[in-house]
Amino acid sequence: MIGSYFKWGSYLKRVLSTPAGPHLSSLAEDLHKQGFSYWVLRGRLQGAAHFSDWNQQQQRSIECLHEDMLGGFEIHLLTCRCSTPLQVCKRHRDRALAGARALIQHLRHRGIITCPPPLMTEADPGALFSGFCAWMQCQRGTQENTLRAYGRVIKDALSGLGADPSG
Ligand SMILES: [Zn+2]
Repeated sequence: MIGSYFKWGSYLKRVLSTPAGPHLSSLAEDLHKQGFSYWVLRGRLQGAAHFSDWNQQQQRSIECLHEDMLGGFEIHLLTCRCSTPLQVCKRHRDRALAGARALIQHLRHRGIITCPPPLMTEADPGALFSGFCAWMQCQRGTQENTLRAYGRVIKDALSGLGADPSG
């Protein structure tokens, strides 16, 4: 199954050589059943392989992957110097991250990861704010000093409201 997404042999070899390699075919099947189009699915598989490769560079085994590592992976994507098939362009960063998340969920579903997912209610104001900054910089090109000014107001508001005002 995976072969149909990476027709160029050296790409396929590189992707399969990551620790997630043995699980990518079943992940592809899962994503296919969920109805993703070819290119979105390919981007996610590439992201999943990249995430597992990056974790290997951090000397983490595949059993230890967790949603908590997605923030670090997002930072890695900004400065990534990995080999060509794993690198992602800016436009496809979201796909790579979604692929990393899908891989974690897939491995948990298959019983390879036994650590439970994080509770949504545990979102902390710091993480919310750094997510906001990343979004503003990416989508709007907002400067750092502007974000610092926003930061004071937002952190005040969040500490008053809690991280999940709807809850
Ligand atoms: Zn990389």
